[in-house]
Order: sequence, then C-alpha cells, then structure tokens
Amino acid sequence: MNRLAVVTGGSTGIGRCLVKAFASSGYSVAFSYVATGTAAADVVHEVEDEGGHALGLECDVGLAKEVNAFFEKVTSWFGAAPDVLVNNAGVQTWSSLLELDEASWDRVISTNLKGCFLNIQVAARLMIADNKKGTIVNIGSGCNKLAFPKLVDYTASKGGIEQLTKVSAAELGPYGITVNCIAPGAIVTERTLEEAPDYPQTWSAITPLRRVGTPEDIAGPVLFLATPAASFITGQTIWVDGGLFTQA
Ligand code: NDP
Repeated sequence: MNRLAVVTGGSTGIGRCLVKAFASSGYSVAFSYVATGTAAADVVHEVEDEGGHALGLECDVGLAKEVNAFFEKVTSWFGAAPDVLVNNAGVQTWSSLLELDEASWDRVISTNLKGCFLNIQVAARLMIADNKKGTIVNIGSGCNKLAFPKLVDYTASKGGIEQLTKVSAAELGPYGITVNCIAPGAIVTERTLEEAPDYPQTWSAITPLRRVGTPEDIAGPVLFLATPAASFITGQTIWVDGGLFTQA
C-alpha cells in the first residue's frame, strides 16, 4: 500500500497511538507537534524500527504559514497528496468563564478550531488537485453534549469542530472526500493522568462500560473511517465514549 496519513499532534497521547496504528496498517505517516520534539523523534524511531515510514515536523496548527510549509515538506517527502488527515492536535485549559483570560481563549481556539480549519483547507486542496478520494477525521470531544464548568474555551472549540465537520463534509463530498468527527469520552493518556491521577477511577465509575478508554479505542474507529467500508459515512459525529454521554 502506498498511502499517506497526516496526523496533527502526533507526538503524545492519542495522536502518538494514531501515528503508530496507521503505520502498522501500511501507511506512511506524517505528523506535527509544537513542543515535544524528543517525544516526536521517539515516535519516528519506533515506527522505523517496525519497518514503517514516519515524518515528524514542528508546526503550530493554528498558523497558516506553518501549516502551508508543513504540507509542502510532507508532500515532497511522500511524493503525493495525503489520503487521510486526522485533526487531533488539541489543548485544554481549566478556567471559569469569569476568570478566563484572552490569551488562553485565543490559544485554545487557535489550536483546536482554527488548526482544524487550516489543515482541512490545505489537505483538501491537495487531495482535489491529486484526484484523491480522501478521508478527513476531526477529533472532537464528548464534552459537547454537556456544559462542563471551567471548560468554556475548550467546549466552544469542540462544538465548532462538530459544525465545521458538517459544512466541510457538504462542500467536499462532491470531490469524494469524507469528513467526520470522532468524539472521545474519557481516555487515559499521560496528560489526563498528570492532570488527575485518579482519572481512571473517577471516569470508569460513571461510564456504562465501567472502564475508561485507551488511545487504541480511538485509533480503531479512526482507521475504520479510512477504509472502503466507511466510504458512505460523512458529516457525522461518532461518539466513542463507552456510553458515557448517552444519558446527556
Ligand atoms: P495530548 O496533550 O497528549 O496530545 C496533544 C497533541 O497535540 C500533542 O502531540 C501536542 O504536541 C499537540 N499539539 C498541541 N498544540 C499544538 C499545536 N498548536 N500545533 C501542533 N500540535 C499541537 O492530548 P490527548 O492525546 O489527550 O488528546 C488528543 C486529542 O483528543 C485532543 O484534541 C483532545 O482535545 C482530544 N480529546 C481527548 C480526550 C481524553 O480524554 N484524552 C477526551 C476528548 C477529546 P506538543 O505538546 O509538542 O505541541
């Protein structure tokens, strides 16, 4: 197979798992990161040790100039447009509406929402120019279904991603490009454990499947969306949450 998957924020957590899962499925994988250069180099080595091809590049997904340069390097590395784009990069801050400062709001909206838009726009233009029937998956969040206090900027960004998904699906459908959103529930990553060591206990207690998710639980459905079996699914938000938000 000679297919290219691009994953934003591929150095840690769910993104890291996505990079490895696409590589194990035979894709060449390119990913972006901002601060975690050492972790990014480790991911590339792990993929290469298993005979795969990966390229990790520093690129702030919220800056058009960097996203353009990223895709230029990626397409010249691979030699063609991406087949798959996963918009996974995301940041989260905890602050009440009354205390949230402008810089935090801008950073969260820029990374989570504007980053999604910029990467979709550049990747879709390349897919169309290369006559590719592409797959775009945006990582949203189950929090869209509830009003979580202290997550105002994050929830607004993830709500925006759901709507961006629908409009992108409508506009890109005629080109054979599908656009969907995966909305994870509580997923254990280094970040979530760092923020709350009791994260698995707290969330498994209120998740109907009585466990928290793993990055692999997200990678499976994302990979499925890139298969021919999923080629008639577009514009959807798919909840991958162990049933957590079914009661919302
Ligand atoms: P991590 O913090 O582990 O990973 C985030 C990734 O995004 C890192 O690779 C980080 O790299 C990268 N990143 C951050 N900012 C930027 C930027 N401006 N440009 C490019 N890359 C960037 O988080 P998770 O794996 O937990 O989350 C991944 C996604 O899943 C996020 O979108 C998150 O909102 C979503 N999600 C996660 C849930 C969970 O329970 N874990 C639940 C619901 C949604 P670097 O630090 O180098 O910038």
